[in-house]
Amino acid sequence: MTSIAERPEGQKQEQGQHPGSAATEDTEQKFSQAMNMTEKYVLRCPDCGTIIPDHYTNVCPKGCTGLIRADYRKTTLDIQPLPGIFRFSDWLPLEGYLPSDAGPATYRSEAMARELGLSNLFISFSGYWPERGAHIESCSFKELEALPTTVRMKEKGNGILQISSAGNTGRAFCQVSAATGAPVVVVVPESAVGRLWTTAPTENVCLITVDGDYTDSIAFGNAVCSIPGIVAEGGARNVARRDGMGTVMLDGTVTAGRLPDHYFQAVGSGTGGIAAWEAAMRLKGDGRFGTRLPHLHLVQNEPFVPMTHAWQNNRREIIPETDMTDARHAVSQVYADVLTNREPPYAVRGGIYDALTATNGTMDGITNAEATEAEKRFVDAEEIDLDPAASVCVAALIKAVETGSVGKDDCILLNITGGGYRRVAEDKPQFLVEPLFGVKGDAVVDAVRRDIEGWVKNHA
Ligand SMILES: [Zn+2]
Repeated sequence: MTSIAERPEGQKQEQGQHPGSAATEDTEQKFSQAMNMTEKYVLRCPDCGTIIPDHYTNVCPKGCTGLIRADYRKTTLDIQPLPGIFRFSDWLPLEGYLPSDAGPATYRSEAMARELGLSNLFISFSGYWPERGAHIESCSFKELEALPTTVRMKEKGNGILQISSAGNTGRAFCQVSAATGAPVVVVVPESAVGRLWTTAPTENVCLITVDGDYTDSIAFGNAVCSIPGIVAEGGARNVARRDGMGTVMLDGTVTAGRLPDHYFQAVGSGTGGIAAWEAAMRLKGDGRFGTRLPHLHLVQNEPFVPMTHAWQNNRREIIPETDMTDARHAVSQVYADVLTNREPPYAVRGGIYDALTATNGTMDGITNAEATEAEKRFVDAEEIDLDPAASVCVAALIKAVETGSVGKDDCILLNITGGGYRRVAEDKPQFLVEPLFGVKGDAVVDAVRRDIEGWVKNHA
């Protein structure tokens, strides 16, 4: 197993003490104050304000529902001499790093900008395109989540990560597992199994397929976490995941030299939108990149657009009967099925509704025809292939230009969340990850419990 490297000499953070679980609240408070000065970061609950030491903690111990955030001691961002995403280590919840070149890669667009008549279009490409400095071999921005999450579990947690995925997230975690040897349990819909490949052989992936859709996989994945030794990765509640994705905003801003006026991303759970907002707030606090938060332009793929529907109706709550009519059918109709989370962190404190409100943002729906047309224009202009979700995002930008909701000279950051599949196939081998278990959509975990327990025993 590749060990997690320590930070270069002179950059290592001082270690504070972790409070014992029996500590009284007063003692905890004192520890917290001390930690705030010496630890690289602490976690903070947006509901009750409690400062929480990180033991791979994803929820407030007082039972609050808001998304806990990482508070970093450093309020200014220094680019570290580390590879890939870890150059943004100042604002990632980890101490060490992995020797991986995968990270966000932003460049100023010429061809697509000309095509759309834009003078300030920055494209952040999270995929494989070495000519642009993009080295994410799983071709998805989900690797920006998987890398820091794997490090965080190693440093602050104690268990094997479990991930439920429609394909891209699972592939990203398999890729990091292949590179580091860190064991991982991945649950995906049976139909997505072809998306689970890596560019190096995997020996420590427990892949479980579910005969159902993404939501069925999430349900079964949650059940798998009742097995001792397996820990839910945490989804939107995992600060490593959010701050990993937030590096796209950091990279885009550092490259442009300023916070963008507009940020575009296609969303399923919307976690990437929350991450962009949080990163933009940190950059605003830094003081060197401007004082105005970028407008978030988040987009979903019709006909499955629950957040778009709720937002456009000025509602904080998603009402399934209204916003997700015939969800299973709608999910089956979209071009980009990775955008089909049925329980997004929309209403929760610190979630999508708050992010859109704070940034005066928009939510839109894009049809399959608009997405495929946009994809063609992008591929012709920029000469790299796209993940379907990225095509949905490009379509949203095109629509915003046409309707005038962005100005021709506005500074725009387009988050291309995946691509380069054809490009990576030219350079790298691909190994399909073989499922260890397959279950029915309504299966109970007891059906495979003993087998999974055996796997955990061999890999813990
Ligand atoms: Zn709380």
